[in-house]
Amino acid sequence: MTAEARLREQICLLAKSIFDRGLTGGSTGNISARTEDGGLLISPTGSSFGRLDPARLSRFDKAGQWIGGDAPTKEMPLHSAFYDTRSTAGAVVHLHSCHSVALSLIPDANEDDFLPPLTPYGIMKLGRVKLLPFFLPGDPAMAAAVRGLAGKRSAVMLANHGPVVAGKDVEAACNAIEELEDTARLAMMTRGLNPRGLTDAQVQSLVTKFDVEWDV
Ligand code: ZN
Repeated sequence: MTAEARLREQICLLAKSIFDRGLTGGSTGNISARTEDGGLLISPTGSSFGRLDPARLSRFDKAGQWIGGDAPTKEMPLHSAFYDTRSTAGAVVHLHSCHSVALSLIPDANEDDFLPPLTPYGIMKLGRVKLLPFFLPGDPAMAAAVRGLAGKRSAVMLANHGPVVAGKDVEAACNAIEELEDTARLAMMTRGLNPRGLTDAQVQSLVTKFDVEWDV
């Protein structure tokens, strides 16, 4: 099996796992990964994470030309915005995950640091998550907002919509976006209960010890 065939299988397997656990429903969510030749594989428009076909993923070449598979997701500009601004990005995942969206609706949500510091892995896998405003689907301003971050964040939350996370490969991006959703879920579960989060000193220790990207 070629490296690209393995990558196609991996994208579909991880997407199905995400779908099966209810982390994005219907035909929502999209996923992309860099290929060895500098091109890109991305889930097709209107496709469901539960039923992606490895052979029908949209294929782009290094120059950004669509060269095979079904037509790409409408949210492709969002993915490109990460690849173009983060040289370390090998994969990008976007979900419509329930608890992350719920947390983005809270009026006092922190725009610069969307996730409260509740668990070490939330910090280690995501760094600081930027909450972006609401955009109409397909609005070019959405990708422009990601580009405006100049590659300093690996994870953003689109208010009233869903998270977008870049990682070094598909597995890392999926693990990180699941951590984002889990942390948002914890935040919603403990909201109003005065939860004991991590202290600033504990957060700083994690950032230092695990060399976390921590845009301030
Ligand atoms: Zn979306």
